Amino acid sequence: MLDKDSKLKQLCNENVYRGNVFHILGVGTEVTPRKLRRRREDIEAAHEFGGTSWKQAFPHLLGTRETPTYQEVCDAFVRIEDPEERIVSEFFWFWPSESKDSVSNALLAGSNDAIKEWEKDASVSGKTRLIAIHNLAVLYHLYAIDAEVQVIASSGMPASDFHDAMCEYWDKSFEYWEQLADDDDFWDLFAERVREFNEPRLTGGFVRRFRAEFPVVFDNINAQLAAAYAKKEAYTEAQRHVTYMLKTMSGLDDVQSILNVLFEPMENKVKRLIDNYDSKLKQSPEQGLEFVFSLLEETDEIRRIAVGMLSDGHKIRTGLLSDISWACNRYQVAYGNATKDWRSCLDSLELLKTLACTPELKEIIQSDSEILKKNLEYKTLQEICWFCKERKPNDTHNVTMYGDVQRDYMQVKYRQLTIRIPICSECQKKKRLSSSSKDGCIWGLIGGGIGFFIGTFIYFPAASILGVIFGGALGLGIGEGVSSSRKDNFIKSINKKSRQFPQIKELLEEGWQFGYSPPKR
Ligand SMILES: [Zn+2]
Repeated sequence: MLDKDSKLKQLCNENVYRGNVFHILGVGTEVTPRKLRRRREDIEAAHEFGGTSWKQAFPHLLGTRETPTYQEVCDAFVRIEDPEERIVSEFFWFWPSESKDSVSNALLAGSNDAIKEWEKDASVSGKTRLIAIHNLAVLYHLYAIDAEVQVIASSGMPASDFHDAMCEYWDKSFEYWEQLADDDDFWDLFAERVREFNEPRLTGGFVRRFRAEFPVVFDNINAQLAAAYAKKEAYTEAQRHVTYMLKTMSGLDDVQSILNVLFEPMENKVKRLIDNYDSKLKQSPEQGLEFVFSLLEETDEIRRIAVGMLSDGHKIRTGLLSDISWACNRYQVAYGNATKDWRSCLDSLELLKTLACTPELKEIIQSDSEILKKNLEYKTLQEICWFCKERKPNDTHNVTMYGDVQRDYMQVKYRQLTIRIPICSECQKKKRLSSSSKDGCIWGLIGGGIGFFIGTFIYFPAASILGVIFGGALGLGIGEGVSSSRKDNFIKSINKKSRQFPQIKELLEEGWQFGYSPPKR
């Protein structure tokens, strides 16, 4: 675990270069006490003189570092006297090349010249190579962090080409740092420098701890930048830094705390959105579906980051996704109850299925879907006449059934249900006509008339009365026959179709029967 009070941890943050004592004071890491004193006198003189001459004492400042305040400079002169602070600051500043006097001069002449020198030195071997690689690592790291801090501090979002430029800086910086992190020669060089201090606090143990802590605190810079971007809701940039951390991560213990810091603002945003929609929902549940889509849209980036950066089952990922999907589920239920628009509810549940990440929620969505399907089926059934499947229903054909029959010695227990099947007025009329016997009488009269006519005129008049009787009977018979067959047909078709009505079909399958009560024994 990391020592909380380690100077390395204290200094290794996004200010590691901007606030570096060598950077603020404009002296090289090789600075002697005598040179340092002279620098102090120069700065004090410039400060006393005031005006712009003060600023002229800081042409060495790299990147977008503003001229430090006098107090910052005075503090830096005190800080540099602390051996631990000085050695950590040296580690994160440019080291003098064996061939050149001062790095600051090389950089002052233009960093491109310095870069060219170091790149040349990096292909040599030994100490020269290590120093050059170290300086290149520091320079690209400084540029990268400086640009990031500037964008974070600005009110706007990063420019479109920022991402690519940053990737280049970071890739280069990592490329150089990685060559050093596990290089024993490099750490020997550092240990040698530490010994030169001849300071009882800076022992061999200090260098060993430093080497072990270095990758962790190094990632800490990216963690802080990621968190700062997340707070700014620039999630793509936040994600970039987590990618860097995961690429170089060595202190696995710290991953969790870093992720907690990073995701906290996202979790807060999700909570805020949900609270807001929850209270709106109370006012207008019929807007629930709108809230589902708004919440999903507004949390789209957060969800993508959570899914992209955290493994399946990670606490933070599960928490975020399930908070969002539980809320969406509440909104669609409220919407469905308010509008009966089950079709849209079903569609939104399909969407939620892909988000649900806990077994509990998956189960709820599954059972909700089944209920909604039944609701939808029922609603569709109510919208059209079950019998002609053409017209709108305005009445019901009622079928009474009984079931769950339980007989014991003395009594029969059963349940009774009346199922109302939607029927249109046309079908209702046909049903009524076919169940009366009026048709039979009409056919009887017609038959009687025909019999009378045949009997009177075609055969002989005396038989006409007989003709009426025969003809009438015959007509009545035919009439009854025709009408009862018509009645049979329509009632039969009503009965047949009724048996297919889902609710009745289900009851029949469960052993229910038509009628009001079971027959008595
Ligand atoms: Zn009908």
